[in-house]
Amino acid sequence: KKIIIAIDGFSSCGKSTMAKDLAREVGYIYIDTGAMYRAVTLYCIEHNLFNADGTIREEELKTQMQDIHISFRLDAETQRPVTYLNGADVENRIRTMEVSSRVSPVATLGFVREALVRQQQEMGKDKGIVMDGRDIGTVVFPDAELKIFVTASAEIRARRRYDELKAKGEEASFEEILHNVEERDRIDQNREVSPLRKADDAVLLDNSNMTIAEQKEWLKRQFDK
Ligand code: C5P
Repeated sequence: KKIIIAIDGFSSCGKSTMAKDLAREVGYIYIDTGAMYRAVTLYCIEHNLFNADGTIREEELKTQMQDIHISFRLDAETQRPVTYLNGADVENRIRTMEVSSRVSPVATLGFVREALVRQQQEMGKDKGIVMDGRDIGTVVFPDAELKIFVTASAEIRARRRYDELKAKGEEASFEEILHNVEERDRIDQNREVSPLRKADDAVLLDNSNMTIAEQKEWLKRQFDK
């Protein structure tokens, strides 16, 4: 039986849509680890932990890590997971372009990763979970029973992200989004701590030419195998 499902891959490749859907269908808990790195980034913005040149005040953040509490709750109405930072609903605020453009440098910091990985391992203890991120199959749960690595061309991923932001009424140009997606991929793949890479035993999915329905079916088949 598969208890831990690890879904990793590039930015905006539709991982969370697939992962959420599978979790709902099989009755597992869904955990979006990207939301946790985004919440730490929002905390840094709100507490002036970024210098004017975009670098992070690391020593200050290190001493404040213990004050950053992240949790997920299901919205009673929509049944969708909502991210909370120190008791406040930050679900919308962590999805802005500002957070997207600052999150990858935050995610290079070893002490940030250590703290979040520990929490992620705790969240997955003894229950069925679907967890999405960049290092789930390689670092957080190297023994996950099913590992998926998702990719698609950068243009297609940026187009999907553009449509998503537009639907929410957020202003961002396609070029800006494409640049953000490529820049995050570059930083995520080249960082020293837990760089983004496919686990050797992960199943590769290039969903460039797949509809959401096809991706859901494909994932369910992997789960049922
Ligand atoms: O998944 P999402 O795009 O929301 O993740 C935002 C950023 O958080 C990624 O670009 C990456 O820098 C970082 N991240 C990470 N490890 C994870 C999940 C996200 O480094 N497990």
